[in-house]
Amino acid sequence: MDFKDSPDEAAFRAECRAWLEANATRKTRPDQVYGRGLNAEQLMAASREWQGRKAAAGYGAITWPAAFGGRGGTPMQEVIYREEEGQFEVPPNAFAVSLGMVIPSLFVHANDEVRARYVGPALHGTELWCQLLSEPGAGSDLGMVRTRAERCTDGRDGWILNGQKVWTTYAQFAQFGMVLARTDPNVPKFDGLTSFFIDMRAEGVEVRPIRQASGEAEFNEVFFNEVFVPDAQRVGAVGAGWKVTVTALMNERLSIGGVMPPGLWKTAAGMMREAQLNGASALADGRMRERLADLYLNAHGLWLLQARGLTALGKGREPGPELSIAKIVGARTLQDFGYLAIDLQGERGVLAAEEQGEAWRLVEQLWFGAAGMRIAGGTDEIVKNSVGERVLGLPPEPRSDRGVPFSQLAG
Ligand SMILES: Cc1cc2nc3c(=O)[nH]c(=O)nc-3n(C[C@H](O)[C@H](O)[C@H](O)COP(=O)(O)OP(=O)(O)OC[C@H]3O[C@@H](n4cnc5c(N)ncnc54)[C@H](O)[C@@H]3O)c2cc1C
Repeated sequence: MDFKDSPDEAAFRAECRAWLEANATRKTRPDQVYGRGLNAEQLMAASREWQGRKAAAGYGAITWPAAFGGRGGTPMQEVIYREEEGQFEVPPNAFAVSLGMVIPSLFVHANDEVRARYVGPALHGTELWCQLLSEPGAGSDLGMVRTRAERCTDGRDGWILNGQKVWTTYAQFAQFGMVLARTDPNVPKFDGLTSFFIDMRAEGVEVRPIRQASGEAEFNEVFFNEVFVPDAQRVGAVGAGWKVTVTALMNERLSIGGVMPPGLWKTAAGMMREAQLNGASALADGRMRERLADLYLNAHGLWLLQARGLTALGKGREPGPELSIAKIVGARTLQDFGYLAIDLQGERGVLAAEEQGEAWRLVEQLWFGAAGMRIAGGTDEIVKNSVGERVLGLPPEPRSDRGVPFSQLAG
């Protein structure tokens, strides 16, 4: 592949840069983080406003088809936009699940009426969607979902939902949520699932935020107590919920590529230059230089992998194992960056940004965030299993649940 921008890509980059210059503030340091002093509600409001502005200018969903309000652009254009946006101080992206997973599954599995009503407000950030998949007993194996949806017996055309979800990102801010529920316990586990979307303010839906180590409450427990869901809010056929979910999960893997902040190794090198170790700059220490070299090699290798995956997508082919590898190595690399930054600070490394100063905010965010990235969208172990089985052709894990009705599996 050619690593330089093609003339079209260079023109697109210049267009993005000009728009960003007119609409946002350029960072003065690469480790600058938006939103100093803002609380979660204010950050969410800023994120919605920014998404609306991007959507109005044609940058809200670059790769979506024009028919759905997107730009019909290439994955490479998406990367170019993100590279340029990374150099500006902009609100955090609260729409990764909403626009990166849920709405693309509506394109494929919902009817025209649903798409006409819901896609636009989601794209413009006025309505946020969440993804209600994981449960206390069903995470890596979503086939074990126990939330039940049962046909109404009182003449209403709909379903009654009961159960609990957990780790639902931004459920407390979302207007709508896509739920995976069990509609038939008497067939094998993946065959008895159906997808619905629900109004998060509907009667019987209770959202309880989970306070994290970082102090934020990004995700939630969500309880359903006799929630009525009209049949018009079913997405896909009864029993086809797993198919709908796979579409969302595939899109999640596609959006993982952009996790590595550009120039991270330069930030690390700057920190090493400033830090003292045994009376000299930490950059003089061989072990520290080795860690810096690892960071650089991993970040650069990931960029090359991403380029290969994007080339495949651009040529209409499915990307290979690049995206799985990028997720395993990328999240680990971000975590290693956090360890490195903390080690460089010595005992001060345990202090938070309030004490260390604003430049520490990025380290803090990556430190807490990277651990979550190693779990969300498939844990390291699960992704390694799938690389082993699907890419390397290793023998599959032994399974005792094939063909067995869910009701005989659930204890
Ligand atoms: C930041 C973040 C955001 C999230 N957002 C959402 C969201 O919006 N909506 C949503 O529905 N969910 C969300 N999740 C939940 C996420 O999808 C699950 O946490 C994840 O799938 C793992 O499931 P679990 O937590 O139940 O762990 P478990 O599946 O219980 O796994 C526990 C441990 O066992 C290991 N393990 C399990 N099975 C195997 C196996 N077959 N082989 C080897 N090891 C195995 C795992 O790797 C892990 O280390 C989010 C999670 C995070 C961290």
